Parts: sequence; C-alpha cells; structure tokens
Amino acid sequence: MTKSFRTFLKHAGKDYYNRSVNPPVVRASTLIFKSIDEIKKMKNKAKKDPIGGHFTYGREGSSTIFALQKILRTLEESYQVFLTPTGFGSVFLAIFSVVRPGDEIIVSDPVYSPTRAFTENFLEEFNIKTVFYDPNNINDLKNKISKKTKLIFVENPGSNTFEFQDLSKILSLAKKNNIFTAMDNTWGTPYFIKPIKLGFDMSIVAATKYYSGHSDVMGGSLAVNKRVFKYVEKANKVTGLRLGPDDAYLIIRGLRTLDIRLDKHQENAKKVASFLYKHKKVKLLYPYKKGTYNYKMWNKYYSGASGLMGLKIKAKNKKSVLKFVNSLKLFGYGYSWGGFESLALQQDLRELGNRNYLGLSKNEHLVRLHIGLEDPNDLIKDLRAALKHVK
Ligand SMILES: *Cc1c(COP(=O)(O)O)cnc(C)c1O
Repeated sequence: MTKSFRTFLKHAGKDYYNRSVNPPVVRASTLIFKSIDEIKKMKNKAKKDPIGGHFTYGREGSSTIFALQKILRTLEESYQVFLTPTGFGSVFLAIFSVVRPGDEIIVSDPVYSPTRAFTENFLEEFNIKTVFYDPNNINDLKNKISKKTKLIFVENPGSNTFEFQDLSKILSLAKKNNIFTAMDNTWGTPYFIKPIKLGFDMSIVAATKYYSGHSDVMGGSLAVNKRVFKYVEKANKVTGLRLGPDDAYLIIRGLRTLDIRLDKHQENAKKVASFLYKHKKVKLLYPYKKGTYNYKMWNKYYSGASGLMGLKIKAKNKKSVLKFVNSLKLFGYGYSWGGFESLALQQDLRELGNRNYLGLSKNEHLVRLHIGLEDPNDLIKDLRAALKHVK
C-alpha cells in the first residue's frame, strides 16, 4: 500500500460508475448476460484471473462483495480474502479447507469456545485429531508436532484470558515441518498486526466486531496467501458460504472509521486500565504492565491494543463479583464486542475450556470488559462505584 492505512480507508471502493462514494448494494442471484457467448467469456476470465471479481452467478459474489474483498485484501496485504456470513464461518472455512481424515491439528488452548467445540468434538467424527497446546510454552507446541500435523491454529491473544504468544517462533516451527498456519486476529485486526505479512497462511477477522463496529452486522473475513488460496477457493465453492451484499455494504461503511474507532478504543482502554491497575482487588489481563511476558510479546508484534480486556477479581464471595457486574450502569451485558458501546460479562473458567496455565485460585474470578467509545471518565466512575460490592 502506498497510501497510509488511514487515507486508504477513506477512499477505497469509490464508485465512479455509479457516482457514489460508497459502492452501492447490488443484490442478485441470477446475473444476466447479453449472450451465451458472454457467459462463457466471463467463465474463462474467472479461470485466468481467479481474484478479479468475474462472477457468473450470485453465489460467487456481486460488485458490493467484490469491493469489500478488494479493500480487505489491501488491509491484510494478502493474496485474496474470502467473506463468510459470520466470523465463525471464516474459522470453519480456514480449517475445513486444509484438513482431511487422518490429519492432526494443533490448536492454542485459549481459543474462542466455538472453535474449540468444532475442532475437539466435531472433527473427531471425521478422524481428524485435535491437540491443544499451552500458549505460554513453545516447547509444548514443539512436542505436539507429529508427522500427521497439518495445521497450527493460533488465536492471539487468547480468547478471554489474553495470552500473547511468540508468533515468529510458531511460524518457524511450522515452516520447518511444512505445516499450514492460521491466526484468528479478531482482537487486533490488521490495523494493529498483519498476520499474512508476518508469515501466516491464513488470517481470520470476525467482521462482526471492529470492522462493522456498530453491533448490527455479522460477517467474517478469511485472508489467505497464494500457497493456500487453491485449497480455500475449492472449499469455499462446495460449502456455499457467502456474505450478503447488504452486510458487505455495512462493513464497508464501518471500515471508513476503523482507524479512528480503534485509536479511541485504545485510548479509553488505557485510561480504564490505569485505574484498574491500581485497584487492589483487580489483576489486569491486558498488555499494560511493562516487563511482563505478555507485554513483551504484544509489544514485539502489535502497533496497538484494542478495547477488550480481562480482569481477575479477588473475592472470597463469588456472588459479590456478580453484584459488581450487575451494578455497572454504563456497560451492557451480552456476548460479542467491538461495537461503539461498553460491555461486561462474568465468565466461568469451566465454560472456556482447559486453561490450567492461568493459575486461577479459588478466590479469583474472571470478568471481561469491552471498553467502548463513551467518555472514559464516566466508565471509570461507574467501575469505581460497582467495585465497592466486591467482597
Ligand atoms: C466473535 C468471534 C468469532 C466469531 O465471530 P461471529 O461473527 O460471532 O461468528 C471468532 N473469533 C473470535 C476471536 C471472536 O471473538
């Protein structure tokens, strides 16, 4: 990209044909041509130039979807981007594209729980074995590599517990053993880190979160390098996964302000973190404290941090932690994140999978906060008052 990320996001996809700043929503199943010959010509073009947006049927895309693909391809610095109706659809497509019966996959233990359920339980029925590795221990990952290992699936940082890993070490292990790699980059987005540029074969972002940014769209993006493109293209065709053009339009609109929103999420999260850091009942799961391993790994690979953080809360009485969360007035209670508004969730470790490396004692409880775009001083006031309930 010659222009800066910021400038690119403001100008990408301008449509001089329709004279609109944002590409128009093109809804179509059947695409019509002037002659049968023209359909054949389009098919040939698609064969010769598989990323050029040459569609013959609506399931392959429309000009709105192609505009979003082109924007994300530039952001990710990838060969192509596949778009799915949800973020999890992109996780599914990434894994499904490269694994086959008899293969093994290695997954970082603190992954998004639907990713865990899909790999651990569902793939087993297809004779695909999943092993999980400790995100804080590269030797554990190394020891789990076998002749059958086909894919290493990383989520960075760990879902809800925010472990940051030494990504280039993982990539060199994979390269040495000729293993495919994928990273779920929903937390950082390519604004803060570009996994394909770093050497991953696949990079996943749930567009539901920061890309759309307004808690009213679902979508997923799977960026790929040239090496895996042919596998993913084939799998994409047989699954019938396709993002709707209305959702693609809303994601393009969200992307216009991705940089501005993420800058502000980061600024607010840092202010809230510096308040929480001093609170004696709270331990932060966020790259805040210099000198820690997580901070070092974040600092090595990321140019910034988003608004999602975890808190370990010290309390003898679990009910008092629930009371803390329930007394927050400016935080909504609900799943997902990445929108403009703040959210809070109390989570049981049992719901999240193994995570025994977290060292959570009986008197510690997990709370997840998404720091939104409100005035951070109001958020801090809200948190300060609610934390008084923790006993
Ligand atoms: C939310 C999320 C997903 C899935 O996105 P959906 O659009 O909800 O399907 C995948 N990975 C991570 C890390 C997420 O937070």
